[in-house]
Amino acid sequence: MHLDRSTVWPYEQGEPGAFVYSRYAHPTGVEAERALAALEGAPEGQALLFASGSAATTALLLALLKPGDTVALAAGAYYGTGVIMDELSRWGLAHVEFDQTGPPPEGVDLVWLEAPSNPFLTMPDLQAAAAHPAPVVVDSTAATPIHLRPLEQGADFALHSATKYLGGHSDALAGAIVSRDAAAHEQLWRFRQRTGPTCAPDVAALVLRGMKTLRVRVERQTESARALAEQLSAHPAVETVRYPGFGGLMSFDVRGDARAVEAATRVIVNETSLGGVTTTMESRHRWEGDRVPESLLRLSVGLEDVDELWADLEQALAAGSA
Ligand SMILES: *Cc1c(COP(=O)(O)O)cnc(C)c1O
Repeated sequence: MHLDRSTVWPYEQGEPGAFVYSRYAHPTGVEAERALAALEGAPEGQALLFASGSAATTALLLALLKPGDTVALAAGAYYGTGVIMDELSRWGLAHVEFDQTGPPPEGVDLVWLEAPSNPFLTMPDLQAAAAHPAPVVVDSTAATPIHLRPLEQGADFALHSATKYLGGHSDALAGAIVSRDAAAHEQLWRFRQRTGPTCAPDVAALVLRGMKTLRVRVERQTESARALAEQLSAHPAVETVRYPGFGGLMSFDVRGDARAVEAATRVIVNETSLGGVTTTMESRHRWEGDRVPESLLRLSVGLEDVDELWADLEQALAAGSA
């Protein structure tokens, strides 16, 4: 791994070389982008890092769409994605929500899916979306390339909050877009280079290091999450468990007081975000309001011993229903 913090590189015989100014590209970022493109099965190097997942989302919308265009957005997808689209409505960008388990509505200019959706954990009908004439984006943050490679399923773009599983240690804020089409990749690169929502070299190095252990982390998280989803489903204080059968993310409804349950955990940390090595849990109602049931807790399974995690959930559920 090559961490180069330079913002400028000397011209070679009076001409710009491979790297010129770090807003355009830097060696650490390019190394991470090549690794991510390979993980996603994308054409060589067709990935771009951004300053956050949200910066990647904003860049994609601004670079590819124009005023008057409409996005079909998966209902129940990451709350912040809809918030960005609301923000851009002042610039003439409209969006409509739809059920991503079926075909997207006609007449839209971009289809935005999430695999699986956060925090409802639905999976998109990728085949139906690929048959739609509009380009298809899959926010694949929670699936990770270990469980899903959207470009191989007909999507045009895979988007990540690299802050989550790719980085994997809750110490790097970053985003990424992987493109199937070379011209679209070029267009996004030009937009990023001009407008500057790029990822710093130190952060790119953390993402690169995280990707080296992505498979073992995600496989272990899947194994633990499957066991916990099963145990939660059989627990009398739990109503609904939403888990797609893979990955480390799930949500469930408790019969008692969800806020008391989240506050009672001792091993599981009561904080936001997901995809790290530490197991975290929170009520999403605090952020998303009535879009999410008050009883819903989102659980991101980390790498701790699964029996220890279950014991912690059991005692927290008991505390919350007392
Ligand atoms: C966290 C998240 C984002 C936003 O990413 P940031 O890195 O926090 O800007 C987008 N999509 C999903 C599914 C997320 O979980």
